[in-house]
Amino acid sequence: MAVEQTDVVVVGAGIIGSSCAFHLVSRGLRVTVVEAFGGPAEGSSGKSFGSIRGQWADPLNIELSWQSICAYRDFESRYGFDVGYRPSGYLFLVHESDWPAHLETVELQRRHGVPVEVLSTAAAQTITPFEPNGIGGATWGTADGAVDPHSVTVAYLSMARALGACVRFGRPVTAIESCGARWRLAAGADEIETTFVVNAAGGWSGEVAALAGLSVPVVHSRRSIYSSAAGAVAAALPMTLDTETRAYLRSEGSRVLFGMAKPVEVDGYDTNVDWDWMEFVVETMSQRFPWLASLPLDQKACWAGTYDLSPDHAAIIGADPAAPKWINACGFSGHGVMQAPEAGRLVAEEIVDGAAHSHDIATLRLERFANPNHMNTALVF
Ligand SMILES: Cc1cc2nc3c(=O)[nH]c(=O)nc-3n(C[C@H](O)[C@H](O)[C@H](O)COP(=O)(O)OP(=O)(O)OC[C@H]3O[C@@H](n4cnc5c(N)ncnc54)[C@H](O)[C@@H]3O)c2cc1C
Repeated sequence: MAVEQTDVVVVGAGIIGSSCAFHLVSRGLRVTVVEAFGGPAEGSSGKSFGSIRGQWADPLNIELSWQSICAYRDFESRYGFDVGYRPSGYLFLVHESDWPAHLETVELQRRHGVPVEVLSTAAAQTITPFEPNGIGGATWGTADGAVDPHSVTVAYLSMARALGACVRFGRPVTAIESCGARWRLAAGADEIETTFVVNAAGGWSGEVAALAGLSVPVVHSRRSIYSSAAGAVAAALPMTLDTETRAYLRSEGSRVLFGMAKPVEVDGYDTNVDWDWMEFVVETMSQRFPWLASLPLDQKACWAGTYDLSPDHAAIIGADPAAPKWINACGFSGHGVMQAPEAGRLVAEEIVDGAAHSHDIATLRLERFANPNHMNTALVF
């Protein structure tokens, strides 16, 4: 069988790989996407909560998320695909001890153009009912909200295909070797030779890198989302985060979906719902949201997926220092959906222009892990 020749192989057809494929083929490259599952967004992307926010505490995460939100906002008018963007808002309930520092982040967000309102506790209670004990105030991102990650992935792949990209499902990459200045991959029965590899394999990115003899510190970390029965709420509840416990909820139709970051989770791919953890989550969240305790649960509507976790909970983007034609786009650690459009753009710049330039991504490059002082401090929810 002839070995297929291309410019870029993107490993992974999740939201990140599909955005990379679209941005790369838009810049004139021959692109092949290879995906192990039988369809798009079957990894983390399809299990995501789909929340998006410009409310971050550092300029780079603000920019990556805010520019991506703008891309989602304009997606339908620009490309003709409805990706389910809903500016339903994002409410941060902030403990009084953190309130002064949090207000400084609001100033930073506003300087980057993110629309954020500062609310009194009483005003926030009219948006999502909660017990105000210990809360110093709230912030409300009016353009924040949600998208449908599956629709985003399908839209990017459709547009990439329309521009000539080749997208193949059921093609697990099982071998990668460098041959001269190029890479050679075995993906299912396909043999492909390419100049660049984009490692967009989500929580599997470490394993994919290892096939090429490279080291990328990304692991799977399970997250469970619990769901009330339908008919639980009449009014829409926006994404609401209690920053002290890192518990969150929002409504989806007449259901309430909720979850909470677990301080310690065993690494590994596991999509079984963590029922033991749920008891602690309901007990903890009921102190802030007492009405939650009385909602009937719908076990069949609960789900679990895995975060693609990096050591400092920030994405790894850019050429691998050990192999300049190996481009990592992984480790988004719970915020890949809200940063996918910008991630794809940066990867295309890294390959076509020689370096990403829309944003200074020094703190996202793999090299940062060589110096612990250069690691990020993003909170993961
Ligand atoms: C419960 C949950 C809630 C979340 N909530 C949010 C949220 O509210 N907002 C947000 O922004 N993010 C959220 N996230 C995180 C977000 O979903 C991820 O950061 C994002 O989906 C990562 O996308 P990806 O394309 O990198 O990974 P994936 O979607 O996992 O895609 C990687 C793909 O690579 C493929 N692959 C792996 N190995 C190989 C191989 N050897 N050969 C071929 N293909 C391979 C996999 O099959 C997979 O399809 C959440 C995640 C979970 C699990």
